Amino acid sequence: MVEREVKDKRHQQLHDLLEAKKHELLAELRNSLEEQRTENVRMTFELAQDDGDKSVEDHERHVRSAIQGNKGGQLDAIEQALEKLAAGTYGICAECGCDIPLQRLAIQSLASYCVACQEEIDRMAKHDALPNKNSDSSGDTAYDYLPDD
Ligand SMILES: [Zn+2]
Repeated sequence: MVEREVKDKRHQQLHDLLEAKKHELLAELRNSLEEQRTENVRMTFELAQDDGDKSVEDHERHVRSAIQGNKGGQLDAIEQALEKLAAGTYGICAECGCDIPLQRLAIQSLASYCVACQEEIDRMAKHDALPNKNSDSSGDTAYDYLPDD
């Protein structure tokens, strides 16, 4: 069936996209860990002269988790996206249910909405953020307020 072939092709493209992002992140993570480790060993070697090995370990673990907290969070998100893809729920607009275009997912691989819905949501959020124009005229009611006790 043609429709099925189209779906399979999209699935494959989305899969490739997410795998590419994942490898990109893993490479970055590895690089930053290597960089930090080199810097870290140099720094902690000086620091740890008195404190012994334990502080070297603690310090390194601290730095490592700080890096992984940032990049690792993105990695988790990609992993979740891959799971969603396997379940057939990835790349579908959470608002209107349409297929989010590949071009959009290539830039924002974790987008939950299509462009039209995202714009609508942004517009609503901006509208909500505006100060309430009625607040001046309804300010008088504040004097009518009496606490229950
Ligand atoms: Zn939509």
